[in-house]
Parts: sequence; C-alpha cells; structure tokens
Amino acid sequence: MRVLITGAAGFLGSHLSDRFIHEGHSVVGMDNLITGNMDNIAHLMGHDRFEFIKHDVSNYIYVAGSLDAILHFASPASPNDYLMYPIPTLKVGSLGTHNTLGLAKNKKARYLLASTSEVYGDPLVNPQPETYWGHVNPIGPRGVYDEAKRFAEAMTLAYQRYHGLETRIVRIFNTYGPRMRLNDGRVVPNFIHQALLGEPLTVYGDGSQTRSFQYYSDLVEGIYRLLLSDEPLPVNIGNPYEMTILDFAHAVVEVAHSKSEVKFIQPEDERVRDDPKMRRPDISKAKRVLDWEPQVHLADGLAQTIAYFRDKV
Ligand code: UDP
Repeated sequence: MRVLITGAAGFLGSHLSDRFIHEGHSVVGMDNLITGNMDNIAHLMGHDRFEFIKHDVSNYIYVAGSLDAILHFASPASPNDYLMYPIPTLKVGSLGTHNTLGLAKNKKARYLLASTSEVYGDPLVNPQPETYWGHVNPIGPRGVYDEAKRFAEAMTLAYQRYHGLETRIVRIFNTYGPRMRLNDGRVVPNFIHQALLGEPLTVYGDGSQTRSFQYYSDLVEGIYRLLLSDEPLPVNIGNPYEMTILDFAHAVVEVAHSKSEVKFIQPEDERVRDDPKMRRPDISKAKRVLDWEPQVHLADGLAQTIAYFRDKV
C-alpha cells in the first residue's frame, strides 16, 4: 500500500509511520509542525519508501500519484495545546477532515479517522461504550477539540454513506510513550519530568479523577487491525485499567525510583475546567471485531517511557 499519514511528525503519527514502513508499505508523511517535531521522523528521512511533505491539511492538499489509504492524525492533542491553538484545532478537525476525505475520494483510498475519547466529554456513563453519545460542553475550553472531532466523525460517516467511501474511525483513549513532548502539558510527560527532576508531582484538584493509560504500541496494533478490518463504525482503542490521577502519580514515582512528593494544585487557568471526572474504555467491541486487547502493563510501558525522557531532561 501507499498511505498518507497526516500528523506524521507527531507522537502517534510517527509511530504509525514506523509500523507501515516496517510492514513493507510506502508512507507519505504530512505535518505543519505546529506541535509535531521532525526529530520524531528523522530516522525515516532518506528511506526509499518514506517521503515527507510539510503542509497544513486545513488548506487544499495535493499529493501526486496513487494512495491506497489515508490516516488522518493531524491535530493538537493535549489540552494545553488546544488552549494555545484553539482555531487551528477547530480547523484541522473540520476543514482538515473535509480535505483529507476529499482526497481519499479522488484517490479511491480507504480512510481512517483518529477520533478520541473526548467525544464522550465528561461522561455520565463509565466505562464508555461506542454507543454512548457523550456529555460535551461545546463552549468550554475543551470544546474546540471535542466538537471538531465530533464534526469529523459526522463528516466521515457522511462520506461513507453518501459517497460510498470505505472509512474507519478509531476513538483513542489516553495513550503514552516515547516521542511525547516533554512540555506538552499532559499528565504523563508532566509527572515523569517532575519525578526525574525530583520536583513535586502537580496533581490537579484532589486527584480523584480517573484515567486509563495505554502504551502506544497497543494502540498502533489496534489501528493497524482496524484499517484492515471491515468495521465501518467507531471502535474504542484504549486500556481499560482505570486509576485515579493520584494513584498514577504514585506509580510514576515508584517506577522512576524518584523521591518526589505529590503536590495538590488548583490551576487558575482553564486547564481543569470541564476536566472529565472519569474515563475508561469499554473495549468489548475491539475484542469482538478486531480480536484486539492491550498487552503492555503500565509498569513496563512507564519504564520504557521514563528511559526515553531521562535523556531529554
Ligand atoms: N493532570 C494533573 N497534573 C498535571 C497534568 C494533568 O493532575 O500536571 C490531570 C488532569 O487534570 C486530568 C488528567 O491528569 O484529570 C489527565 O490530563 P491530560 O492533560 O493528560 O489529558 P486528558 O485526559 O484530560 O485529555
């Protein structure tokens, strides 16, 4: 296959590029580099099956030659980033999705949309199955991301139903691993950074909010299987092992062999407004249709990620 991956210089886009190259496919990577980083794909530059195009997919996209699949992963993805880039976040989820869908239609390519557990908002149901419609505040700080991704899902389904395009939608739950940005503001890099420096871990609120963290390699496997599957509707891919943020802080301290303590803080900016109180994927559908479930334990994934960050701190 020849595949286009948007957001290829990002955390997930770069790992996906690696997987497709590893499987013997050709990859066209695209990124405007507002939150992506060329270091993530430096090892692919010069590879005869990899090419990179610096481009903002919210503008018309031109790619020469045939494409068999398009994976749309471009977007700021950390709450900090989408507070900093609210309009580019809305544009890449809406205009960027429309442009990549149009390109898929022209090239007769299969299309895979990176959606998110944020479509469930601050959920009233736990765990969240794909059938849950969500509880989203459209005008809160997270609205720029959540609503763009909800629009993106609607647009993708419209292309499937109206144009007969082959489409897939993955709803990605919290994922971590090497190549996250040390300063992206999300809880995994923040805590690891703080633990490695011996500084207090900043737990927002009382730390009773929950998340479920999956290692990137489990996600990449799920996405690869989904692309090759026949499933036209959204599929959750995440690790159902749910924990409080406070317990997560202790886990990071332990795996990093750090002496850091935990500090409870109440950020005064918008970072914690509408912070989902719980999040855990119901993965029965992924098990059923993809025969997929996560393999990497938190302690192992954290150890790998900490080793990566140790060199950056
Ligand atoms: N969080 C925290 N301390 C930090 C960063 C984040 O306690 O330094 C909390 C945040 O309030 C949220 C959870 O960790 O409840 C996950 O936040 P993240 O930014 O990683 O992504 P989210 O899952 O909210 O999209």
